Parts: sequence; structure tokens; C-alpha cells
Amino acid sequence: MASQEDVFKKIVAHCKEYGFVFPSSEIYDGLGAVYDYGENGVELKNNIKGYWWDFMRLLHTNIVGIDAAIFMHPTTWKASGHVDAFNDPLIDNRDSKKRYRADVLIEELMAKYDEKINKEVEKAAKKFGDAFDKEKFMATNPRVLEHVAKREEIHNRFKKAMNDVNLDELKQIILDYEIVCPISGTKNWTDVRQFNLMFSTEMGSTADGATKIYLRPETAQGIFVNYLNVQKTGRMKLPFGICQIGKAFRNEIVARQFIFRMREFEQMEMQFFCRPGTEMKWFNYWKQHRLNWHKALGLGDQKYRFHDHDKLAHYANAATDIEFEMPFGFKEVEGIHSRTNFDLSSHEKYSGKQIKYFDPELNESYTPYVVETSIGVDRMFLSIVCSSYKEEQLENGETRVVLSLPPVLAPNKVAVLPLIKKDGLPEKAQEIMDLLKYDFKCVSEEKDTIGKRYRRQDAIGTPFCVTVDHQTLEDNTVTLRYRDTMQQDRVKIDDLFNIIDKACNIKHLLRKLNADEKAENLSAE
Ligand code: ATP
Repeated sequence: MASQEDVFKKIVAHCKEYGFVFPSSEIYDGLGAVYDYGENGVELKNNIKGYWWDFMRLLHTNIVGIDAAIFMHPTTWKASGHVDAFNDPLIDNRDSKKRYRADVLIEELMAKYDEKINKEVEKAAKKFGDAFDKEKFMATNPRVLEHVAKREEIHNRFKKAMNDVNLDELKQIILDYEIVCPISGTKNWTDVRQFNLMFSTEMGSTADGATKIYLRPETAQGIFVNYLNVQKTGRMKLPFGICQIGKAFRNEIVARQFIFRMREFEQMEMQFFCRPGTEMKWFNYWKQHRLNWHKALGLGDQKYRFHDHDKLAHYANAATDIEFEMPFGFKEVEGIHSRTNFDLSSHEKYSGKQIKYFDPELNESYTPYVVETSIGVDRMFLSIVCSSYKEEQLENGETRVVLSLPPVLAPNKVAVLPLIKKDGLPEKAQEIMDLLKYDFKCVSEEKDTIGKRYRRQDAIGTPFCVTVDHQTLEDNTVTLRYRDTMQQDRVKIDDLFNIIDKACNIKHLLRKLNADEKAENLSAE
């Protein structure tokens, strides 16, 4: 069996070969941790954004969108705390000359202990079968207890060091637990230093006295500085949300793992403004609500888990991540943060403008509290591609590579394929395209055997192929082939719209999500 690392390499190669993701400026050998989306990638990415944007604005009548500029007044970043505190602890290995995030090295060590514990549990479960009592095993097995204790010990030291911003202690943990550089295999580490992740540039010519400005490291501040505008012009009553999709930039210390950690990436953020004291209720609501959004895509419920933060950001009083199981382990895809009234209060202080809400029910003014949901489009993209990529062994001995993307997100919904390039079949195929193209992204292909064309559509994740043959000319039926099962049905052209719409229209997914949540009684009350 291929290792997870090999699978990941194949996924990266697949993304390039099939027009999903290219290294940026590749003809100049690329630029570190910057990527371009190709003809299929951009469609998938836009569909992810569409799913989120519609979820936010259509399912919640108290959420509106904005599109703020990337450049912002430099004081914004002083007020938000990013100038002083948006740092990562970095460490270099003197032998390999490679740079790492000290916190990530330690987290990876803890993940190794988790793995060891899981392996022991799996082994024992196999050995004891139905009689296996996991809880008892965890509480009594000496090897498991040893691993758990070790992990706990590292975790406690790590948590304290991060909260105290104690860089010497971070280094000491790395030394004490003998963490080695994966490249050189040595423990020849430098001291740990802080590194600010913001990119800066200059606005205006030097003669005029240029101002140093930053490329935004998060989209959220564009929402905070517009809180008053939107509250007034949109006549919004608390609780309400403002959502936004846009680029963010971070000068990441370590940029490996493809589009997981990029220096230019895209975020989808929503700030939910609420009455002070209600924030934990909303925090719990948004945690579950966002998890449901993810799960509705059908990638597998077991692939998600929550991870509460060890170190809270300077603005937060609660924070959790939604993690997804990537080929390189469970990793953060989305963060849900209770940001208190830190940002609005701070902007009030730095700008000198009153940023308050008058609550008619309480007959008083206050600074709203904020619960934020923040997801990276690119990480979401990666999680979807990774879990959809499959190499299947077919009955005839061949293998096929299929991207079983959720149909609502697939770049193309349907490929219309004339069996041969003559006898009026291409014209008939065009007629079908003309029927469907206003609602669904369609492609047509005439080259190669039908089998090869099916394989190509499988590889880019097209959920349906429609094959036009001589019989089509006689009775207006076509062969409809399903990507995942490879089943082929004879269907009427007139029925195509409904079949494709049912599987591919985001509207149906949102309606189901809403109905399921109602049945579950999910509410913030
Ligand atoms: P990490 O701990 O992985 O650096 P973070 O906790 O700093 O991430 P947040 O500031 O909470 O991330 O950002 C919200 C979301 O933005 C993340 O959940 C992730 O999906 C996305 N994101 C953050 N940094 C990057 C990046 N460098 N490349 C791609 N996506 C990113």
C-alpha cells in the first residue's frame, strides 16, 4: 500500500496535470508558497465560495456581506494588535539551514504520542474483538499509560510556554525531548526568535513621504472598521453578522504542504455581533452550525474533529478549530473564535470614534461582543481534493483515478460526448449543451474513445457524462453515466435537467442542511 506521503505527492501532481493548481510563475521556477488556480481549480474554488456565501447570506437574514479593500489605514493593525503580537516563534537548524516553527515541532511530537496510543488501542481491539473494553484498556495498559503521561507532560510545559511567550522554554522543550530536524537529523538548533508575519509595502512616492502600510493578514479587520457603516446603512439589529470573502497575506515561516500554508491565500470570515454575556451561547451555536455545513458535503463525518486552543489569541476568550483529516494528519481548516469586544473597543480607542450599539430593549449603549468563524478557502479546497482523490482497481484489472468531489462543488457538472464525430451526433450534442449550459457548467469532448473520455472526466470529478449515439437521433434518449458507480442508464433528454439539478444545485443542499438542523433543534436559545 502507498504511504500517505506518496498519496499526497500524487494528489499534488494530479492537481497540476488536470488544471487545478499550478505553482505561481512556474516558468521562473515558482515562488515559495504562492500558487495559481487553473481552469478546473478556479471553478472548484468559486463553488466552495458560493456554498459558503449562500449559506451565510441566504440562510441567515441577519447576516450581510461586504467587500473591504486589502489595503487599510496602518493604525488598523496597531489597534488590532497585529503590529505587536502577530508573531510566530521560529527556530533554525544549523546543519540543514532549514527554518521551523518551534510550536509546530512540539505539536508534531505530541501528535506522534497520539499515534502511538492509537496504535496500541487498534492492536488490542483486533486481539480482543468484541470483548474489547477501550476505556478499561486506556486506564490500565502500562504502555498506553506511559505514552499518555509523557504527552501530558509535554502538553503542560508547551501550554505554559506559549501563554507566557517564553521562547527559552520552547527551545528547552525541543532539547529535552530530543526533537531532531527531519532533514539533517541533528539537534543543532538556534535560539527561538519571534517573527512578525505581516507583509509591508509603501504607499505614495518617497518624495511625498511614503507611508508604510500592510497587506492585511486577515479579512476580519475590514469588517470591524465597517461595523458602524453597515449597522447604520443596513439598519441591523443585534445579533447580526457581517461576512466577507477575500485575500489575506502572511509571511509564513515554513511553507510546505502545498496549498495548506500559503503566503497569499483567501479567507471566508463572518463576524457575529451580539450582546455581551451571550457570546458563549453564540460560540457554541456557531461551532455546531459550521460543523454541520462541513458535514453536509458528505465527505465522511469521521474526518472532522474539534480542537480547542491551548493558547488563546490576545483578543479571544474561547477558541476552537474544526480539523479535517488530511493525508498528513488532522489539521485546522476553520477557526471559531469568541473575540470579546476587543477589536471594536480598540478601534474606538485608536480612532477616537464612538463604536457602540444602542440596545432599545435594554435602553443602553454598549460595545457588542463578537463571535467569528474564519475558514481558509484554499485549505477547504485541499481537504476536499484529498478526500475525493481515489485510485480504484476495476474488475477488468485496470485502475482508474477518480475525484469523487461533492457534485455541488465539481468544476463541471456534465460532459456531453458524441459517440463519434459524424452522422449529426456532434450537432445533437451541441443541442443538449444549449439546453443545459445556462444552469450548469458543461463541457464537450469529441476526441479519443468514449472510454478514455470517461476516464478524463472521472479525473476532474465531473459527476455526469451524457453520451449521444445514433439512437439519440431516433428517440431523444442518451446514455447517462454516473461518475462514482460508473453505472449507465438510458434516459430521456427531457429528464436530464432534473437529474443534474437534484445532485448539483447548492439550493437543495442548503435546504437539506436547514431541515436537518431544525430536526436536531439546533438553536442558540
Ligand atoms: P495556523 O495555526 O495553521 O497558522 P491560524 O490559527 O493562524 O492557522 P487563523 O488565523 O485562525 O489561522 O485563520 C483562519 C483560517 O485561515 C485558518 O483556519 C486557515 O483555514 C486559513 N489560513 C490561515 N493561514 C493560512 C495560510 N498561511 N495558508 C492558507 N490558509 C490559511
